[in-house]
Amino acid sequence: MTGTHSVGGAGRFAPSPSGDLHIGNIRTGLLSYVRARQTGRRFLWRVEDLDRVKTGAADSQLEVFADLGVVPDERPLVQSARTAEYSDAIARLAADGLVYECYCSRKDIAQAPSAPHAPPGAYPGTCRSLGEGERESARRRLEANNRQPALRLRTDNREHSITDVLLGRVEALVDDLVLRRGDGVYAYNLTVVVDDAASGIDEILRGDDLASSAPRQAYLAQLLGLSAPGWVHVPLVLNDSGQRLAKRDGAVTYQQLRSLGWSVEDVFAWMQQSLGFDGIGSRWRCVDDMIRSVDFTGMPTAPTVFVPPVGA
Ligand code: GLU
Repeated sequence: MTGTHSVGGAGRFAPSPSGDLHIGNIRTGLLSYVRARQTGRRFLWRVEDLDRVKTGAADSQLEVFADLGVVPDERPLVQSARTAEYSDAIARLAADGLVYECYCSRKDIAQAPSAPHAPPGAYPGTCRSLGEGERESARRRLEANNRQPALRLRTDNREHSITDVLLGRVEALVDDLVLRRGDGVYAYNLTVVVDDAASGIDEILRGDDLASSAPRQAYLAQLLGLSAPGWVHVPLVLNDSGQRLAKRDGAVTYQQLRSLGWSVEDVFAWMQQSLGFDGIGSRWRCVDDMIRSVDFTGMPTAPTVFVPPVGA
């Protein structure tokens, strides 16, 4: 067993309640629980329900984990109940002169010439230095279309890095990221930072598709005076064309696999094999076997392909 022992710290799983979890999301959530248990952290759960919500999905996701023997140590934090905290964080950044309104549409951003050395998709800075007169007329233009400006963080495009347990140093350009979207929804990069700090999360384990977001989240945490968490980005589960697993790939959710005859033990046997720990020790049958056997220093960083079983 590896990892630093943490007294009072916590890890978390933060799925979006947009539907049933597939086997890849479940693997990430189980690893988060395993890591928390191995390192003496509490295991917390967050419902990221500001966007793409399917009624009943949050409860059903928790039920799947309960079925697998995983119950969070506290009542889940629900993002839709926390808008006052997000607004307060933006007010703190604004007081430091770090927030500006952005009137750009997606199309405006795609068509603007990109800043030198900025990666594709980085905000080109169009609204960063507008004068008050220009802002007034841009605001009126949006209002006429029933839109409001987005709020962006003033970063002046800087490099920031984090250290990940599996990936080592991850460096990325932090562009002027969105804090509140034009539709009024608080942006993922802000809410994740505010909530992880509020819950005392001191190590974040999640899928490695989010590794490139970690430097900007760490930078934002620093601006807000929040302590920096540790990071563990684990490999994803892909379909056989190398894309992220999705509903259209067939039987990929827990419910579908169970109805095709998979038992809870089969789920853990697949976890063991897909993480490359088969042939090491005995067959995993439950989450405690996983806690005993996962070695984060020996974990592959390459993705796994899941080929769904074919139904009768
Ligand atoms: N809600 C995000 C997702 O379901 C995860 C966010 C995170 O772990 O930081 O992909």
